[in-house]
Amino acid sequence: MIVVMSQEATPEQIEAVLRKIESFGLQTHPIYGVQKTVIGVIGDDKTKVVETMAGYSGIEQIIPILKPYKFASRETHPQNTVIDVSGIAIGGDKIAIMAGPCAVESREQILNTARLVKMAGGCILRGGAYKPRTSPYSFQGLGEEGLKYLAEAREETGLPVITELTDPRNIDLFCEYTDIIQVGARNMQNFVLLTEIGRSGHPALLKRGPSSKIEDLLLAAEYIIKEGNLNIILCERGISTFETYTRNTLDLSAVAALKQLSHLPVVVDPSHSVGVANLIPAMSMASIAAGADGLLVEIHPNPNAALCDGPQSLDFETFTNLMHKLRKLAAAIGRDL
Ligand code: PEP
Ligand code: MN
Repeated sequence: MIVVMSQEATPEQIEAVLRKIESFGLQTHPIYGVQKTVIGVIGDDKTKVVETMAGYSGIEQIIPILKPYKFASRETHPQNTVIDVSGIAIGGDKIAIMAGPCAVESREQILNTARLVKMAGGCILRGGAYKPRTSPYSFQGLGEEGLKYLAEAREETGLPVITELTDPRNIDLFCEYTDIIQVGARNMQNFVLLTEIGRSGHPALLKRGPSSKIEDLLLAAEYIIKEGNLNIILCERGISTFETYTRNTLDLSAVAALKQLSHLPVVVDPSHSVGVANLIPAMSMASIAAGADGLLVEIHPNPNAALCDGPQSLDFETFTNLMHKLRKLAAAIGRDL
């Protein structure tokens, strides 16, 4: 159940509502939004809240929520949530294209890529600085040096940046250096990490785990929202199936389902979904047609020499051509790019 406080509710009224709900033996999770406060009510028997509190001063509405993910559910928030990432709106009419290398490899590599992303019409630069790899002996990223190169690329091009946080102890560093914190697929259920991101209030992109259900993804988002952070972008990045031709199987139905179930923006990472560069343009177009609010695409100045995920990285020319096609598609479905 969600108790929505009116815009005019005073801190005293909010406090009184919280104490009253707790007096029924229920748990409260207030989220103090910019415009309104909403209170999640958790517990078995909530009938007393409905029976006695409907006319309480400061309460606008009491909404029963059937889904286990309360704040991520569209039941709580029927309109799309539009997230502001350093001036870029994600989840509105504009489709957000985030592109860049899998890993930041050098200053030149990320600066050149950032210039190309900007020129082609992308709006966010991606690049991993801390790279969790399947093998501990593979390139693990440049670490803080990589974050500094990303910051320099942002400074020069004005593109906000997205990069993956793997260790909750680095949260302050990431809030300083990055505009969106990426939660990698393998960390989707790292609840300590999710809670830290929730407390930071920083925009986050949450990837679906390779073996996670749609509901698991929404419950992971709930861990972040529960701490008061609604700035979450959900990301479909392919799931494990029996198919081996592609790296993972892109679950496009998840895009449409997530848009129905949740008010949060949904983007697709076609690169990790299929792992094969020549399939990525088609999957990018399909993702946008299915209703995705954006893409997270790996590109590289020289994919053959990439230290990480070269086979799925688009070269600059292919990415630029894809952007032309996406622009036409966006116009056809009444969106901007
Ligand atoms: C990445 O975006 O570089 C990455 C490691 O993705 P995922 O967590 O989806 O495997
Ligand atoms: Mn990658």
